[in-house]
Amino acid sequence: MSPPRRRLVGGLDLGGTKIQAVVLDGRRNVIGEARSATPTTDGAQDVILALVSTMGSACAEAGVEMADLAGVGVGSPGAIDTRRGVVAEARNLPGEGAPIPVAAGFRTLADTRAYVDNDVTVGVNAEYVLGAGRRSKSLLGVWWGTGVGGGLVLHGDPWEGRGAAGELGHVVVKIDGAQCTCGRRGCMEAYAGRGAMEIRARRLHKRGRKTDLFKIMEKRGRTRLTSGVWARALENGDELATELIERALGALGAGVASAVNLLDVETVVIGGGLGTRLGEPYVERIREAMMPHLFVDDRPPRVQLAELGDLGGAIGAALLVPPGSPGRKR
Ligand SMILES: [Zn+2]
Repeated sequence: MSPPRRRLVGGLDLGGTKIQAVVLDGRRNVIGEARSATPTTDGAQDVILALVSTMGSACAEAGVEMADLAGVGVGSPGAIDTRRGVVAEARNLPGEGAPIPVAAGFRTLADTRAYVDNDVTVGVNAEYVLGAGRRSKSLLGVWWGTGVGGGLVLHGDPWEGRGAAGELGHVVVKIDGAQCTCGRRGCMEAYAGRGAMEIRARRLHKRGRKTDLFKIMEKRGRTRLTSGVWARALENGDELATELIERALGALGAGVASAVNLLDVETVVIGGGLGTRLGEPYVERIREAMMPHLFVDDRPPRVQLAELGDLGGAIGAALLVPPGSPGRKR
């Protein structure tokens, strides 16, 4: 049964630097959106206030009240207690990993039900339901950003394992290889994660390697090598940036192909901050890098760029609101 036209849901993508909100109508069209900066002060309450206020702005743009929403979904980094709607161990958010009781906050401040899940999980699900994977029964989402996240849909259902499935970034691509931020060695993320690439770029630059990466960073008023900084350096043909991206692509090719050898999914969707920013030319490079490692190389899976772009995370979060929540009739 298709959802009633008037059923409105909210979605929030909580990131380390920004909060993105959307309002979807019953046909899952975006009818309002808003964006704000993630608070930098330490405190769960500030994060909750910012989430509620950004959602309020998106509702205002859509011309609806927050009370009209059947519920609000929130995608967040960190470990999520989905039952209680609490974010924990999110080291990129204020409070440095202290629990953020999102669902309780929405209940108290906005009298609205909130549902919380992992940001990569909801982003991959959005691509499965509405984006690049909508014609596939099985899908592997590769979220290429600060780390490398993964999400799986098998036979039409998300696969969560015992709760920790999809840790594609920690697939081993080299025994005793590079140090990973998880404390282990040789993980794909230790080569391909934007965080790991930045650590290596800083180390090599300090040892005298020439690169414009940090000049571009400063010019843009950033303190980190963002996806935009990498993209610009690559466009300019920066030698070190190119070398580190090649290294990342090699690791992605091996890691993603290994996952495909195990699961034989129909579609691989490349998303995440860096994946989305670098776009189709680099999706093609990932396709090529996978080929030598594919066991059944005469019918590789479709490898596609995420289609929903910047709003994908918030749209996916909105899909967390269960169909049983009718909301107020309008
Ligand atoms: Zn690791």
